[in-house]
Amino acid sequence: MEIQFLGGAREVGRSSFYVKGSKNFLLDYGVKVGRKIEYPISVGKVDAFILSHAHLDHCGFAPELYRHAFPIAFGTEPSLRLAELLLEDSIKIGIKEHLPPKFTKRELGFFLRRYVPYDYGAPVGFGEYDITFYDAGHMCGSAVTKIEKSSSGRKLVYTGDFKIEEQLLQRSAEIVESDILMIETTYANRNHEDRKSAIKRFVEEVREVVDNKGTALVPVFAVGRAQEVLAMLHKNGLSDKVYMDGMARKATDITLEFYKYLNNVELLKDAVKNIQRVKDRRDRIGALDGGNIILTPAGMLNGGPVLNYITKLRKNSKIFLTGYQAEATNGRMILEEGKVEIDENIHRIPYPVLKYDFSAHAGRDDILEYVRKSNPEKVICVHGDAENSTSIATELKEEGFEAFAPEVGDRLEFEF
Ligand SMILES: [Zn+2]
Ligand SMILES: [Zn+2]
Repeated sequence: MEIQFLGGAREVGRSSFYVKGSKNFLLDYGVKVGRKIEYPISVGKVDAFILSHAHLDHCGFAPELYRHAFPIAFGTEPSLRLAELLLEDSIKIGIKEHLPPKFTKRELGFFLRRYVPYDYGAPVGFGEYDITFYDAGHMCGSAVTKIEKSSSGRKLVYTGDFKIEEQLLQRSAEIVESDILMIETTYANRNHEDRKSAIKRFVEEVREVVDNKGTALVPVFAVGRAQEVLAMLHKNGLSDKVYMDGMARKATDITLEFYKYLNNVELLKDAVKNIQRVKDRRDRIGALDGGNIILTPAGMLNGGPVLNYITKLRKNSKIFLTGYQAEATNGRMILEEGKVEIDENIHRIPYPVLKYDFSAHAGRDDILEYVRKSNPEKVICVHGDAENSTSIATELKEEGFEAFAPEVGDRLEFEF
């Protein structure tokens, strides 16, 4: 078996791993979003495409596979529905920004039709392999993938993005035994802030803004973070102040259909009853009345309805960043320079910007725990920047694992 790293190696973004054996698998096919979009390097013949979860850094390029071929696709059902939502939106954004299309609705349609959903724990036979998904604890429908060769019993496990610590809406990731483990290393160098105290700090600050008749503007990723933050606010009696805008609304509705995949569905169900849904310009003006909380994409302020609000806030407002802010995004610029770029104009944003670590990724201890319990011979560190993936690989070698931190374009061969 050979694995070629088409993207997502010594970088976060465009995850894409080409696994060649008697059948050829493609694990994820994502894009990297910054000032410009980056794509994985080109792939050979694919027999089956496997999707770990619906975030665009894992599924953003999947329809492109269907320009000239029709490989079957496997993943969970929520991943299918949420990927459809995000991919449709990415086509719309491409058209709006006059970008040359890499794929159209036609290829997206082929991808969706070729996608066969499977639940966690239900093995799929494919050639001489069995593919099984397990809960990855990252977002609704996120999966750890195991590919097992029936004759030898050898197992390749790909974690995708995962989290062992429970979130309000997600159970903890299942740890799966492996011979070869490919693991995300986004936060290999540190542990996350204690979640309970981060939530407490967040809720207190938001409450203060609301009490002072300012606006608490909370940019969120539409899928995953929006629902988790809403659950936090509801748990603390603040959901009746929430205005939810953009794709976060649709993503929340889809998430609610898949209650089996959620930790605490009642919390989200109850929260949704209290919120105001923002659908048009008039609703947006209403949302900007003081004393409200606006939950809106995009999480890194690169587009989305958040840009309609950010220059129009009244006094006593604050901006609450709730996730990773990649380089070359508005989110990073507002943190470092107090500015954002909208339609090529730079705006100074005079409101305090607060940052919280509500990461849905494994921290350092989670990563080490996963490797030790999965107990592979070989560990491949992906989905981390050069420093994170190489330093954790070095540490794992010292623990006795054969560990790798490949670069994009590299190939590794394994007995399987
Ligand atoms: Zn993700
Ligand atoms: Zn990711």
